[in-house]
Amino acid sequence: MMCRQIERAFKVITIFLTIAVFASTARGDLSGWRIGIDPGHGGTDPGAVGPTGLQEKEVNLTASLGMRYFLVRQNAEVFMTRTTDVTLSLSSRANFMNSNDVDRSICVHHNSSSNPDPNWHLTYVAEGTGWATSGDLAFDISHRVTDFNGLGFGWSNCGREGVYEENFYMLIYTYMPSVLPEISFISNPLEEQRLYHDRYCYGNGRGMYEGIMDHLGGWGGDAGEVEGHALEIAQLPTEFKLHQSYPNPFNAQTVIPLELPQRSMVKIELFNVSGRNLGTICEGIKEAGWPKVHYNAAHLASGLYFYKVVVEGLEQGGSFMDTGKMLLLK
Ligand SMILES: [Zn+2]
Repeated sequence: MMCRQIERAFKVITIFLTIAVFASTARGDLSGWRIGIDPGHGGTDPGAVGPTGLQEKEVNLTASLGMRYFLVRQNAEVFMTRTTDVTLSLSSRANFMNSNDVDRSICVHHNSSSNPDPNWHLTYVAEGTGWATSGDLAFDISHRVTDFNGLGFGWSNCGREGVYEENFYMLIYTYMPSVLPEISFISNPLEEQRLYHDRYCYGNGRGMYEGIMDHLGGWGGDAGEVEGHALEIAQLPTEFKLHQSYPNPFNAQTVIPLELPQRSMVKIELFNVSGRNLGTICEGIKEAGWPKVHYNAAHLASGLYFYKVVVEGLEQGGSFMDTGKMLLLK
């Protein structure tokens, strides 16, 4: 008798646990949700530029790729206006969101000021939507991003912490609930140094993802896990690649973007037009991903230069070599 009672109790508990596990899985799943991500600026439009030359278009993309990784892992369908450094008009970005009929549109930006001091987070929504669905999403994103990067909120004009109403193009020409997070101030010298690290940008991407989870899925995970998860970026490049340096022409800061499918030893050397080796721009181990090598050519005269990249894969082997040219105009 006693045994049967225990067995019955056990069955009830098992059924209860099964339901609980199923419910928590369902709550954390974004299947069926179509999320649009627009990494702001790109190509000929660098966006804001930090005190030592870091360009907003670059960090917008890195944070966006981080966000996409986590969303895809939760089975969301993600639509990105750009995944590389290309020039796009605002109307084509809005059309992209509308024609793909996404459920939420997230335009990723970093803020800037002529004053080097400010550094805070705000997520923008169209006027009058601070307490509507857009405002709910903005509130969740703002709180998760600041959980990660430790920044405070800028002043709100709608009485909702972390949310600011302003009629940016992408907020009023998209048909779905739309938000525009300005993650932090690239114009702040200390913040710019943090933004140079891809892992920091991926972490901000995870913060945005967690805000979306809070908004749509009811659970966003633990922001404290960012460092470990940032290493898992699933959509790594599939091959070694060297991209054109930018800006080009330049004076005197430039960025050489690479794609590495695996952890690699990277060496970049500089040559002049007559083929003379002018020294090494960079030599060392880089993690898999989209590393950007920053170079300051202030000591060189105006002219055309070549950069030669040699890469040795450290995980699956293989090697890669390519050359690019850049024009220094002082
Ligand atoms: Zn921007």
